[in-house]
Amino acid sequence: MLELACRDLGMDCDHVVHGESVPEVKQKAMVHAAEVHAEILKTMSSPEQLADMDKLIEAKIR
Ligand SMILES: [Zn+2]
Repeated sequence: MLELACRDLGMDCDHVVHGESVPEVKQKAMVHAAEVHAEILKTMSSPEQLADMDKLIEAKIR
């Protein structure tokens, strides 16, 4: 089981996402972000920012 803490992405949030695979964790993280951190997601609209966030998520999954 893999997990990703929202806090590790720099959010002030105690949410932790679990999943069986990296793509699953990533997908759940994006769903959570869209629901709870929509304001922050809106500021990450450029492809570079999204790619950086993608890399950060992969680095923080454990
Ligand atoms: Zn969160």
